[in-house]
Amino acid sequence: MSLFQVISTKLPSLSGRCLCSATFKNFSTTQALSAEKKECNVLIVGGGAGGCALAAKLSSKLGKDNVIVIEPSDKHYYQPMFTLIGGGMKRLDHSYKLMANVLPKKVRWVKDRAVNFDPKNNTVSTANGTSIRYDMLLIATGLQLNYDKIPGLVEALSIPNGKVCSIYSPKYVDRTYQCLRNIEDGNAIFTYPSSPVKCPGAPQKILYIAEHYFRKLNKRKNINVIYNTSLPVIFGVKHYADALWKIIEKRDIKVNLRRNLIEIKPESDTAIFQNLDNPSETFVEKYNMLHVVPPMSSLDELAKCKELVNEAGFVDVDKDTMQHVTYKNVFAIGDCASSPNSKTAAAAAAQSPVVYHNMIAALNGKPLKGIYDGYASCPLVTGYNKCILAEFDYNLTPLETFPFPQNKERYTMFIMKKDFMPTLYWQMMLKGYWNGPALMRNMMSVFKFGK
Ligand code: FAD
Repeated sequence: MSLFQVISTKLPSLSGRCLCSATFKNFSTTQALSAEKKECNVLIVGGGAGGCALAAKLSSKLGKDNVIVIEPSDKHYYQPMFTLIGGGMKRLDHSYKLMANVLPKKVRWVKDRAVNFDPKNNTVSTANGTSIRYDMLLIATGLQLNYDKIPGLVEALSIPNGKVCSIYSPKYVDRTYQCLRNIEDGNAIFTYPSSPVKCPGAPQKILYIAEHYFRKLNKRKNINVIYNTSLPVIFGVKHYADALWKIIEKRDIKVNLRRNLIEIKPESDTAIFQNLDNPSETFVEKYNMLHVVPPMSSLDELAKCKELVNEAGFVDVDKDTMQHVTYKNVFAIGDCASSPNSKTAAAAAAQSPVVYHNMIAALNGKPLKGIYDGYASCPLVTGYNKCILAEFDYNLTPLETFPFPQNKERYTMFIMKKDFMPTLYWQMMLKGYWNGPALMRNMMSVFKFGK
């Protein structure tokens, strides 16, 4: 029985139309895809970390042209490198490849933005009017950076050689190292917003890198290093939080919990923060350098489709199977999913085999057996030569790969983050070969005696 027969038999409600490869014969070149109607077995919206990994797995299983990817960007960024770029350890051009060279050859790329999701009719349409009908949909649109939600921020970020920077966007990341070099004294303030964040460790990684940089350049004694975080804790997993508090104390970093950035006045180099436990209380703080992590949300285009998302705007999936709670032919991977894991590329990698096997099972009308345990990892870089590799699951229980305690700063973990992980990402994850470290963890467990 062919794949198409299987689909028609098992998912009759989805199509009733001719699903055949002839549909794809019109697609001569990627760029030539224009405003029209298209059909496919699997539609992936978003070609970032999760979307690209699944595009590789699914297209290799389903064959040429049966998977379409909607992705508007020319470049695919390895975002975890932005932290190191902020510290001057890597350059921006190290962090990206052309999307055309990263998306698998067997997929059809629609280079456009998805603007409308219509799960009742199994259709997604794009900004230029192309309407794509699917049997299975995978949503992988990541998080939207809302720099404009903080008055004064976009203006401050547009001042040439200014004092405000952000590692979260390729547009602003280079300003960070500039700020580290420029500041000579006064307050270096680092923020964490009151919203879900991708890589919740990154806002403090750049804090530690900056503090180390100031020491290296012998200007630390003139600079107050301040971390204003909206969170009530330094890190969600106690095992690592305890270690981080020790570092903060030892390095004389001032931490203000539940303090949220609400406005910037670039003309006076001041930032206004709110006490989230007592919102009528605000603090005006002068900065000589301000590193801002913007508020983030699900994409507006996705969040407006109320049938697909939960109240917070994230794709409403079962946290074990990553299948949509209502639309059984819809799955999500990565930062856009409602699964309550820490939003990281490492989490998307661990989700990828689960989503892949469950999508294939759903296509074949079989029960879903893949279960995601909430694994996420965060290499907490604490300077120019050390890192704590945090790994944990849905219950915030450490799920460590290596046989030694990982709540300690280590040079080996730093080298792994800086030099090994980019290769793992480009050569393994995006090609569909990396499923997270579960296998390695099992193998390493034989060495864990006495841990
Ligand atoms: P993304 O990789 O963000 O991809 C989303 C894709 O959707 C993008 O290609 C985008 O162009 C596309 N898209 C957007 N809008 C549309 C639309 N309308 N239609 C179609 N496509 C659209 N993770 C780690 O594991 N370890 C780390 O150390 C780490 N450090 C980080 C440091 C920083 C500064 C940042 C910013 C992130 C870091 N991350 C880290 C997080 C990691 O990069 C993300 O969690 C990961 O990229 C999520 O993958 P994703 O596929 O969900 O989203």
